[in-house]
Formats: sequence, structure tokens, C-alpha cells
Amino acid sequence: MVKSKKQVRDIFCSKLVIYPGSFDPLTDGHINIIRRGLAIFDKVVVSVAHNISKRTLFSVRERVEMIKEVFKNESKVEVDTFEGLLINYCRQRGIRVILRGLRTVSDFEFEFQMALANKQMEPDIETFFMMTESSYSHISSTILREIIQLGGSGKGMVPASVEKRMRKKLGGVK
Ligand code: ADP
Repeated sequence: MVKSKKQVRDIFCSKLVIYPGSFDPLTDGHINIIRRGLAIFDKVVVSVAHNISKRTLFSVRERVEMIKEVFKNESKVEVDTFEGLLINYCRQRGIRVILRGLRTVSDFEFEFQMALANKQMEPDIETFFMMTESSYSHISSTILREIIQLGGSGKGMVPASVEKRMRKKLGGVK
């Protein structure tokens, strides 16, 4: 269904966007997307997923704490959690735009499927994609967990406060 210009404008004028994800943990790549999102939207709701299918390093509470710590001086960033279908959460909160980041072709394939599935279930919700910046294109929570576990430095990839918590949890010689 093609939307009229007015319908599209109404969606983006809501000025509220949700950035959902695992954030296990938050990386500089995520932060870059959030900051760029803030330049376009009035408020970014970073929402941590209770993933039933993923075994995570950090609990939802810990992941929320880490994001809040990083954005403690940023009133336009709200940190929340959600369970179940993302579109149900968006409906409950009256949010009509989902923000996602893209790094690789494999990200594209996954994101493409998710965006189309969400669109089919809820045509009024749009997914807004931002391409990673080149300095963050290789950064993922998975790679970082491995680097820290093996005693490497997370500098330039993860906030110091997050790296500290990772080191505590994963050990890692350093
Ligand atoms: P999920 O399990 O939902 O994919 P992630 O925490 O891995 O959660 O990622 C959340 C979103 O952030 C996804 O859209 C992902 O593609 C994006 N993202 C993750 N790392 C980066 C990065 N370095 N640059 C740009 N986008 C990123």
C-alpha cells in the first residue's frame, strides 16, 4: 500500500523513534546510530529486548543500566525494555518509526526480512535504516565479547564504563 505524502509526513512528524536491540552490550557503533538518530528525531527510545532465543552475557537490567550510564546527561534518550512482538510494543507506546543500523550484507538480509514482516503485520509503522559509519562498520557486541575475553582492548569500540563491566564478567587478561 503506497502512502500519501501527508501520511509519510505524519509518521516522521511523530518525531519519536524506537531503537530496539539486544545491546549485549552497548557499543560505540550503537552510540553512533543513537546520536545520529537524535539529529533527526526529537527523542530516541532505546529499548532492550528480552530475547528468549538468545543467551546473553548481560541481564536486561544490566544492559539498561549501561545504556543509562552512557546517556545520563542526554534527556532526549529514554531507555526502556520490551518483551514479545516489537510492533505490539510500538503500538502500545504510540511509536510509528523503528530505527535500525546496517553494517554488512548479512545485516541487510536479516533486517530486510524483519522490516517486511513488521510492515505486513503493521503497515503504519515504518523502519528507518542508517548505514554504519566506516569507523564502526566492524564493531559488534559479539566481536567485542571475544576481544575482551582474550585480553584485548575495547578502546574506540566500546565506552570505558561498559568495557570495565565486560572485563569483570568475562575475566580477560589485561
Ligand atoms: P539485535 O539482536 O536486535 O540485532 P543488536 O544490539 O545486535 O541487536 O543491534 C541493534 C541494531 O544496531 C541493529 O539494527 C544492528 O544492525 C545495529 N548495529 C549494531 N552494531 C552496529 C554498528 N557498529 N554500526 C551500525 N549499526 C549497528
